[in-house]
Amino acid sequence: MIIPCPHCGDRDVSEFRYGGDADKPRPSHGSGDLKTWHDYYFLFDNPKGPHAEYWQHVLGCRRWFTLRRDTAKNEILEGGR
Ligand SMILES: [Zn+2]
Repeated sequence: MIIPCPHCGDRDVSEFRYGGDADKPRPSHGSGDLKTWHDYYFLFDNPKGPHAEYWQHVLGCRRWFTLRRDTAKNEILEGGR
């Protein structure tokens, strides 16, 4: 799979690290109990189809960005931003 880094351009997926689901709402700072934060950090869905993901270009510019990917087809729907 080729991932479009917003700084470096198209690169192989082996240069990147997956950083989690970007569609998952983060609790606001200073709010929520421990269970809310536990669930946010440690419980993950495994969505099938289009959703937003965080990626880091670890073997390049090290920039974090969000892209939209269809996990059923393994297609990038919207590039890094
Ligand atoms: Zn990059």
